[in-house]
Amino acid sequence: MQEKGLLIVLSGPSGVGKGTVRKEIFSQPDTSFEYSISMTTRNPREGEVHGVDYFFKSREEFEELISQGKLLEYAEYVGNYYGTPVDYVRETLEAGKDVFLEIEVKGAKQVREKFPEGLFIFLMPPSLTELKNRIVTRGTETEDLINNRMLTAREEIEMMHLYDYVVENDQVELACERIKAIVTAEHCRRERV
Ligand code: 5GP
Repeated sequence: MQEKGLLIVLSGPSGVGKGTVRKEIFSQPDTSFEYSISMTTRNPREGEVHGVDYFFKSREEFEELISQGKLLEYAEYVGNYYGTPVDYVRETLEAGKDVFLEIEVKGAKQVREKFPEGLFIFLMPPSLTELKNRIVTRGTETEDLINNRMLTAREEIEMMHLYDYVVENDQVELACERIKAIVTAEHCRRERV
């Protein structure tokens, strides 16, 4: 029988650079994981493409997905829903491929409950000040939203102990290398009989 793939969950506070790290990982030709594209009710940012960055949904459509049990996890984050399509994740794992989720911490906690055997990696900002600078420099958020995200970030960092590994995002390339090394090591560990 074919081995099931590994469910890899990258989480951490918004603004820590999860998206940047994930994009860098998936731009590398030797990356062998499959990225699970999330559903969200937030509006697309400039340059974002439906079916590439997210599946953009209305609130009604999203709530329909929730009631049909189509989401592995979901969370409301700064006024919008975000969630992971369950069928895609299960089918890809069954096909023996690793699936990579990049999600916020409330969702990651739900995945831990359903897939305790997953590999959970917490991406850590070098400091909270640095985190705020990154959110502000991104320039896509209003001041209220920035403060809201900072408050959430502090609570999120307290969840670190629920993870298997903590990776500091001091440099994107280094963070990617560490994450890929962790995945390789995890596969080797699971080879044990
Ligand atoms: P953004 O609006 O900046 O793209 O994402 C906001 C937050 O939602 C980020 O922390 C991102 O990782 C998280 N996120 C993206 N997709 C999902 C998902 O499917 N589920 C959950 N719980 N969070 C998600």
